[in-house]
Amino acid sequence: MYMQKPKLNKLSPEIINQIAAGEVIERPASIVKELVDNSIDAQSTKIEIKVKNGGIDLIEVSDNGIGIPKENISSAFDSHTTSKIEKIEDLNTLLSLGFRGEALSTITSVSRVKLVSKFQSEDLGNEINYNENGKSLVKSAAKEQGTTVNVENIFYNIPARFKYLKTAQTEYRKIYELLLNYFLIFPNIHFILYKDGKIVVDTSLVPNSKAGEISEERVTKFLGSHNFLKLFSDGAGIKINGYIAHPSTHKSKSSNSYIFLNNRPITDRGIMRAIYEGYSRYLPYGEKIDFIVNININPELVDVNVHPRKEEVRFENPFRIYSAIEEAVKHTLNKELSFENTNSSESKLNENSFSSFRDRFNKPKKEYGQNNLYLKNKSSSVKDTLLFSKELLKSSSSPEYDSFQQNNDHNDIVNIFQLFNKYIVVEFVNENLWIIDQHAAAERINFEKLSNNSKDLDIQNFLVPVELSMKKEEILFLEENKKFFSDLGIQFDIKKEKILLKTVPVEFANSDFQKIFYEIFELEENLSLLKKNFKKLRDDVLATISCHTSVRSGQKLTRESMLDLYERLSKCENPYSCPHGRPAIWRLTLDEIDHNFERTY
Ligand code: ADP
Ligand code: MG
Repeated sequence: MYMQKPKLNKLSPEIINQIAAGEVIERPASIVKELVDNSIDAQSTKIEIKVKNGGIDLIEVSDNGIGIPKENISSAFDSHTTSKIEKIEDLNTLLSLGFRGEALSTITSVSRVKLVSKFQSEDLGNEINYNENGKSLVKSAAKEQGTTVNVENIFYNIPARFKYLKTAQTEYRKIYELLLNYFLIFPNIHFILYKDGKIVVDTSLVPNSKAGEISEERVTKFLGSHNFLKLFSDGAGIKINGYIAHPSTHKSKSSNSYIFLNNRPITDRGIMRAIYEGYSRYLPYGEKIDFIVNININPELVDVNVHPRKEEVRFENPFRIYSAIEEAVKHTLNKELSFENTNSSESKLNENSFSSFRDRFNKPKKEYGQNNLYLKNKSSSVKDTLLFSKELLKSSSSPEYDSFQQNNDHNDIVNIFQLFNKYIVVEFVNENLWIIDQHAAAERINFEKLSNNSKDLDIQNFLVPVELSMKKEEILFLEENKKFFSDLGIQFDIKKEKILLKTVPVEFANSDFQKIFYEIFELEENLSLLKKNFKKLRDDVLATISCHTSVRSGQKLTRESMLDLYERLSKCENPYSCPHGRPAIWRLTLDEIDHNFERTY
């Protein structure tokens, strides 16, 4: 067979640039990103972005930064030409957004460009143009301060790319979504965005703000008045700041989540996971939450040069970062939401969460009642209610409530009854009302009991051990973790393909342990993963077991068991939610009920 010899072609610099552009410049938003990065690196405090037709016809970025010296203007457009690094080690101390020196050159290879800039210590501005005929000579131009880059006809010379552009509307949306990152992370910069000649964003700089210090003003302005909690931690060389949404604002669809590393927007599944890990006891499984998090670390500990558009980074020690984030999130949530701190955090919460109770009251939530416990209205908190009830217990019982004192420990309770065999309604003398989800409450109570190292577990001994058949590897797994289970009051012997259950905590005497074990095995994709992560999954195992409590939804309860459940729930460390994160109590005050009926007396 005849075959022509392949010829090796040395590619011209133009083609090399166009190929490189394919990676860096995906769409108009990529150009906006490179230009805004350059303006920020030039220490600008005001940046104006103009886009026409979704950036396809025009992108113009003007800044008031340091500008480009006359002698550099022409070479700034050469590939691999940068003022930001000199040698590879410089990446170890790099805090600028750019460093590859390829943005301007790749932009000129896919569009027509005009740049006007005045260097701060020079008197005159200079201009240079790029088009299909190559670059123009540098000429003087009127310019007060900073740099303006004007980009027209993107991909005009690469039809294959042009074809893949979406509608102007979609391209504009991509640009806006990109810019939102900068609006959030640089409160120290005044941004103005023009869309087809009209101003759509004009956000003056936040007084006394610093780059990378996420500000309440910008978060409220651009993400709406969510109930956000301030996130902050600083230790072991990892500084974290930002805002995380109140757990009650969770939703099922993807949310506004922003991760920054040294002020650079990035995506990172590990960080994302760590944030959700931090939320795990407060959020129903699989639900999404809003957050804006900036992590500042020594640039030496991270490689920012692993992605063509620098959207991903590689950490030297990712797990240190992840655990710092998880801890920071947990700490914020525990501090703001834990039952113990309900009272003391009242003032902090008002400081740290943007929206007032009133805002939320007027904005009904799909899943939760308008004023579930998470909201902690000012008038009183659960803790108040409990303190109040304890005080009442101390003082002598008033005859008025005698009729309710069947087990005389509850003289603060006016009324307790069940709704739909599912919820317990408790009316208190101090005009508070609780609606308790009986199953969620029982789960919470058992979860805390089991977590408490079985101190006050009552054990049920089976006269005849309960036989459960299992697969070989499951039995091996249980054998390995025998101690873990026996600490929970779950003791068993192993016999070939079976385990013989000898004891369980009393609450679970009637539970289906075949099913409980099955659900535990299901916590991970496979048993070896479960084995590996078992320590970390401890809480999930406890939550799984707790779910099989004897108090179920749909079950009729006696007044005694209702009182008992209420009593034990109110002693929990976190009575707000079940261990899966669903709410356990919805508290209402008479005020709120009156308000709902527009009653003022
Ligand atoms: P990089 O940002 O990686 O250095 P670029 O191609 O984006 O590479 O820019 C090349 C150089 O041009 C920069 O290093 C900087 O010196 C200069 N430059 C580009 N844009 C601006 C600007 N808006 N203000 C000041 N200098 C700029
Ligand atoms: Mg750059």
